[in-house]
Parts: sequence; structure tokens; C-alpha cells
Amino acid sequence: MSDDHSLELLSRFARLISADRGDRELQPVHWLALGFLNRANRYSRTPKGLTAWLDQTKGSVSQTIAVLEKKGLVSRHSDPADKRVVRLDLTAAGQRMIALGMTPVAEQMLSYLPKNERAQFIQMVERMIKNQISRMQGRQFGLCKDCRNFIRGDSGNHCQLLGVPLQGFESEQICIEQDAA
Ligand code: SF4
Repeated sequence: MSDDHSLELLSRFARLISADRGDRELQPVHWLALGFLNRANRYSRTPKGLTAWLDQTKGSVSQTIAVLEKKGLVSRHSDPADKRVVRLDLTAAGQRMIALGMTPVAEQMLSYLPKNERAQFIQMVERMIKNQISRMQGRQFGLCKDCRNFIRGDSGNHCQLLGVPLQGFESEQICIEQDAA
């Protein structure tokens, strides 16, 4: 396959997904933001964390947050420990929306592949994205449990970087500060 053809296919693939408005009045960027807020840990669910995840300008991300707030899917509040820091959380409606699944077009396109090919495809895409992010020296946003600052202990886990205890479920969350071990 020529490089030109690969580029054309990848572009068409991305365009089909990004043009999908879906039947739930959400654009793909809204789904990406909801997905991030569903998977990120408490330190990463901020406008700054979301901006890094979406790799967009602060202005665009503010608009995305405003839309999600207006739809009642995301709430914003000050961090009790530091009032200057804004934290974002999914509301109950946001969690219900996430439970509905990804954008219809992306879901449909993946459904054309048998289960084993779908898993292989996801792994390949993951590898390509990780390599590209590393080449661009961007953030990896890996899982907390794979971070060099994640300390597992008999009486509980804790984060060496932030000096805080971590609850069990937090080891599976993604973190803006993750530093792959
Ligand atoms: S251990 Fe690493 S990934 Fe987990 S909260 Fe601390 S910095 Fe983030």
C-alpha cells in the first residue's frame, strides 16, 4: 500500500468520526471530554488536564466545558484544599451518557471487525498514538498503577509525588502527572 493511500485512508477514517454529530446532540470532542472526565483521577479532572488531553487551545476547551455544563453533564467546583483550583466532575446525567457508549459512527465502524481483529486494531492504534506522543514529547496519560511514583503498600497505596494516599480504584485511573515506570 502506498504512503499516499495510507494517508488518504487515515484521513477519511478521522473525518468520518469527527463529522459524526450522533443522535445524542454531542460532538466527538464532547465525547472525548466526557470520556476523559470518566477515567481521569481527581488531580487530572481540571480544565488544564482536559486541555492537555484534548490537545486544544484553552479557549476551545473552555467552550467544550461550557457546553457540557449547560447540558448538565459536567459540574465545576473549587478544590476544598485550594480555592484557586477548579475541579470538573461528571454529573449523574454525564455518567448515564457515558454508559450509552461511544459516538455511533465510531461504534459502527468498529463493529465491522470481528472481535479478535478489533482487539488487534485497538492495540495497533494505541501503539501508534503512544509512539507519536512520545516523539512529540507530549504527555502519555498512563494508568496510575504504572507510574514510577505509585507505591503499593500492605496498608494501602500512595503517591510519592503528591504525598497522598490513593484508594484502590485510583490505581486504574489516568493521571496528568503519570511518569511511566
Ligand atoms: S502515582 Fe503517578 S499517576 Fe498516580 S497520582 Fe501519583 S503522579 Fe499521578
